[in-house]
Amino acid sequence: MSDEKNLKTQLEHLLDNKNVRQKYSPAIGKIIDMYIDYIPFLIREHESGKRVAWNCGLMSDPSIFYGNGVIPASYTELGRLGAIEEITKAQDHFQIPVETCSMVKANLGEFLIYKDRFPKKINYSSHDCEPYNMIFELLKDYGYDVNLFDVGFNPGRKSEVRSEEMKKHYRNELLRKIEWLNDGADPDIEGMKREQIKYNRVQRKLQKIIEYRFKFPTYMSSLSYMIMMIGNGHYFGHPEEYEKTIDDLLLEFESLKEGEYHDEKVVLGWYGARGQEFNVYETIDESGGAILAFSLPNNPYTLFDESLDPIEAVVKFEFSDRSSMSVAERNGILLNQFQKYGAKGVLFYGFLGCSLTSIQFEMTRKYLQENNIPVLNLVGSFDVGSVSGQVKTRIQAFIEMLQKENHEI
Ligand code: SF4
Repeated sequence: MSDEKNLKTQLEHLLDNKNVRQKYSPAIGKIIDMYIDYIPFLIREHESGKRVAWNCGLMSDPSIFYGNGVIPASYTELGRLGAIEEITKAQDHFQIPVETCSMVKANLGEFLIYKDRFPKKINYSSHDCEPYNMIFELLKDYGYDVNLFDVGFNPGRKSEVRSEEMKKHYRNELLRKIEWLNDGADPDIEGMKREQIKYNRVQRKLQKIIEYRFKFPTYMSSLSYMIMMIGNGHYFGHPEEYEKTIDDLLLEFESLKEGEYHDEKVVLGWYGARGQEFNVYETIDESGGAILAFSLPNNPYTLFDESLDPIEAVVKFEFSDRSSMSVAERNGILLNQFQKYGAKGVLFYGFLGCSLTSIQFEMTRKYLQENNIPVLNLVGSFDVGSVSGQVKTRIQAFIEMLQKENHEI
């Protein structure tokens, strides 16, 4: 058990996954290595003169960024491997109250501490939360070139006319964003097309891995799965290496024999933030659960329409099931995703101090429960390495309840 090993930091949990728990899998080890090196790699690339720009990591931007010769740097990954110093810096420098969301503070602190080494371009979207948006406005005073991608929420009940207006506005903002990214140059249409084809190809491979995880649920831990899926939009800065590693992992799965790595598991869904206290995932695995349904803004089942001009393909992609939708509209999509994976229960994970997700979670929790999917709400923070015993007990009790229900059916 991870606690018996006394693992404390996120990095220790990752290394334990690589060197002990899944030592048998070179591909999983490679994914973990890419993840650990992602932010240092971005800094090295920036310092060597490559074009690197920050963006919310889980949106459609692989085609916009890579397609135009820019490496996407996901600001949602900042602070993940330890953020106490960053949080303190943000609190002290800007007098930010302690109860403010730890993710916002960790990001702000890191942008301040590394301002002389970080890439300078930051793109953020108006459908990120308000505290997040405000930190990027603050960063303009610290030498960052900040672009606001000004697209609104996509309300569920809208007229056809309104829908067309929104798409038109989105298209215009997209062109303006690419112009900013390219320092005034035109979009590289060929490059974007190539990246959309690659993105679709990679997602199809990830879909196969998800199918294999149903067959061999204990081969890959829930934490390693989460890490792999985090990279499905930006490939940790290494598109070729990421795809090759996914190919290698597929080969590893293909070589397994029927019945191997197949302890009985309760299939769980995960919704909300990608958790920060990594022993949550280990507690789930060790209690008889497996996260197979991981709800992502970039879910691997939504692909670019390759028959369209790439700009139009991004617009269509974004107006399918992206995170800019209303909660009511997204609830239906989430339910479909969790049912598709056969999730018996769903874990919600939000950060302390986040007013946005606490209300949204309540609406989604009610909806899923009405559709017979029980939910456990977890609240975490960026500045701790492991969850408390109380949280572990709640997870264990939740999985036990689902195991009992499964056997009674
Ligand atoms: S956890 Fe909430 S407040 Fe924090 S960045 Fe995310 S949406 Fe914003």
